[in-house]
Formats: sequence, structure tokens, C-alpha cells
Amino acid sequence: MPIGLIKRLFPSKEKAPEKLAAPKAAPKKPTNTSVKPKPKAALKNKAPKKEMPKWDASQFKVAVQEGKTRFHDFDLDDRILHGIYDLGFEYASPIQAESLPITLAGLDIIGKAQTGTGKTAAFLVTVMQKLLTSAPSERFVSEPRALIVAPTRELAMQIAADAKSLGKYTGLNVMTVLGGMDYEKQRVKLTNEVIDIVVATPGRLLDFLNQKVVFLDQVEMLVIDEADRMLDMGFIPDLKRIIGATPEKNLRQTQLFSATYPFDVIALSESWTHKPRQVEIEPESVATDTVDQKFYIIQETEKDKVLAGILKSEGVGRAIIFANRRDTTRDLAARLNRMGLDAMLLSGEVAQNKRTATLERFKKFDKTILVATDVAGRGIHVDGVSHVFNYNLPDDPEDYVHRIGRTGRAGSTGTAITFVDEYEAYGLMDLEKYLGNKIVTELPPQE
Ligand code: AMP
Repeated sequence: MPIGLIKRLFPSKEKAPEKLAAPKAAPKKPTNTSVKPKPKAALKNKAPKKEMPKWDASQFKVAVQEGKTRFHDFDLDDRILHGIYDLGFEYASPIQAESLPITLAGLDIIGKAQTGTGKTAAFLVTVMQKLLTSAPSERFVSEPRALIVAPTRELAMQIAADAKSLGKYTGLNVMTVLGGMDYEKQRVKLTNEVIDIVVATPGRLLDFLNQKVVFLDQVEMLVIDEADRMLDMGFIPDLKRIIGATPEKNLRQTQLFSATYPFDVIALSESWTHKPRQVEIEPESVATDTVDQKFYIIQETEKDKVLAGILKSEGVGRAIIFANRRDTTRDLAARLNRMGLDAMLLSGEVAQNKRTATLERFKKFDKTILVATDVAGRGIHVDGVSHVFNYNLPDDPEDYVHRIGRTGRAGSTGTAITFVDEYEAYGLMDLEKYLGNKIVTELPPQE
């Protein structure tokens, strides 16, 4: 089967690599030592140049915050930073903050992290940074420079979608190689285009490898995602053959992620990585067994009345009410006070010494009410909080987990009540996805 052959020179760092048309050439063997056919012709770029919006990192303003890592703190290519900026990410998640210094330095990594921790962006940023900063003078079709293997189609598609949005200004060509769909379309794309990043499930990739539709001997960056699920799904033999077709482990950079580390995964991780560093991120656990989570469908105008009613009821001791904005917390605390409830405010606009005194008071009494923003509320580690209220559904699902984690601590049980009005209901889908379980909504109790 004829395989196109192409020479691609990366332009300067400021310019995105351009997509080039590929002429046909003879097939070649997928071995690490295979002699590359020489490019037959220098190729012209036939595609019209895309206008890249003018952007530089000075437009990406994120305040320095203690204990948090900004993406600016890594020496990332502006095209990647621009993608991150568009995605609205400000600070690196813990897995990103821990793994990026390692992987950007070119070292292998074994990461224990679950979905929801931001691990996808963690490995993609490094893959893209590497591809943008080191460019081979010759490129061939059928030869990706980065390979990401995932156990399921859904995950692979999600990773590819993330890669496309994160890499939207990089000009890197990302494609999925997935079982059960578009065999011919994938084959044609692989044999006709210069692909930078292939995101694949093992079966189809191995099939293409056997058919010499794809060659993996130019893979510089290898990512194995959800290694434990690969094991569960019986993909290890396929994966071994796939990895065997990539360069030796000391000649590629390998990032391996797994949520759990059964013995077999430990053994495989060691054989597939070269002097790996290990990072482990336990997502702040959603303490479903110690927190009773309720979601009340409620109109905005009814929230105060229902909240005050519950706060006055017997079972409520120490309570924290979270709202999304400082001004909402300030006004809400004032309104609760007018309704005869002694509510204290904890937000960024409260002076530090006052905040300390407020927290002391909150700890001292069994029945106290605190109204807080996410940022101020993160530092509250007080046992015996009986209720957490989400006056607004948080914009970021991660904040939901942080918020409800303020109750049900130290072996005690707690209740988390989230108010969802008609404008917020759409956010429930994201939260469901993040939590990995179905959210059951209800109407607030009549009394
Ligand atoms: P993952 O664990 O890769 O599935 O990512 C979980 C979610 O977190 C995805 O929706 C990402 O878009 C989002 N995410 C990843 N990194 C960040 C970040 N640094 N800041 C905010 N959101 C992020």
C-alpha cells in the first residue's frame, strides 16, 4: 500500500506549524532501526494560512496566590498559554502543579490520579510543549510524534477534544484512532496527513500497526492513561505490542496514569518507564457516606425564606452558607441578621484580624452561622459543622466538593443542602459528570 511521504519544517516559534499536503511514497517497515526513505520533494503549503489572533501572555492576568501555582510559573509556549487562557483555567490543579515541573524537565512520570483531577491537561501541556520546542526537520505521514493510549472510546474522544481546545493555537494535528467506527476515514487520514498527536484505543491502533497504516518508531511522547482499566479490560497484551513498536523507553518520554495501583500495574509501569518520578493525588474525597447531600429546586426569591426556616430548625448546629460572589455573601449575611439570625461574614473583603476572630467565634459556639465565599471558606477546618448550604450552585464542580467537605468531618455526619434555581439547573450536568453519580433533586420541605 503506498504511503505518502512528506518533509515538514517547523516555522519559527511564533508561527504555528502549517499543514502540508503529502505525496505518495513506498511503504516501509515499522522498526526502530528502519531506514527512512528520503523525502522525494520539498512540499509547498497549499492550505491558506490561518489568521492567528494577536495575543501575548500579558493578557493572561492571574493574581499570585500563596500555595497556588499559576500556569505562568512554567515556561510554557505562548500558544499553549493562550489555549489555557481560553479554557478559563487560572491556577494549576494539584496534579498539574506536581507533575508539570517533572514532565516539562523531560522526566518520566507515574501518576496516581483519578478523572476529575485535571490529569488530562497535565499530560497534554507537556506533550504539546515538547512538540513545539523540538521539531524534527523531516516529517512523514503515518508517523505520529506523540501517542496517547486510553482504554475506552469515550475517554480517548474526551482527551482528543481537550487536546484540540488546549492546542487550538498550536497548529498541532490531533487525531483519534478508535475501534468500532470510521475505519476507512481513520486509515485515509493516517496515510495522507502528517499527524502530531494520535489518541487511540489499543485494539484499532494495533490493527493499523499490523497493517502498516501507522508506524510508532517516531513517537517521542507516550501517554498511557487509566492503566488499571487497561488491565481490567484485558488490553495489556495489545498494549505491550504497541509499546514495543515505540522507541526504547530511554529514547521516549513516558507518562503513565492510573487511579489505582494493583500489583500488575506497578510491574508494568516499571517496565514501561525510564527512571520515573511518582506523584500521587487523592482527590478531596466526596464523603458521600458521611455527608447527606440534598439538592433543592427553588426559585431565587424563595431561597432566603427556606434557608432561614432550616437554620432555625432543631437539627442545625454550626452551619456554613456558601455563595458564589462576595457581594452575595455580604447582602445575605445582612438579610439573615435582619431575620433574627446571628450570621457572620467570612470573605476576602473582611480584614484578616476580623476573619480570625470570626473563625474563633464560629468554633466556640455550638449553634453559629457563617456566610462565606469559596476562597475564604477553603481554609475552614472546623469539626462539628452540621450543615453546609450552597446558596448558589458553585460554578466549578471542584468547589462543590470543597464546600461540602467542610461537614461530615472527623467521623461525624453532616448535611449538605444545595439550592438550585432555574438559572443554575444547567450546571447540575457538569456536577453530575464530575461526581460520577446521578443527582436527585427535590422540592424543599413545606415547613
Ligand atoms: P480531567 O481530570 O483531566 O478529566 O479534568 C477534569 C476537569 O477539570 C476538566 O473539565 C478540565 O477542563 C478541568 N480542568 C483541568 N485543569 C484545570 C485547571 N487548572 N483549572 C480549572 N479547571 C481545570
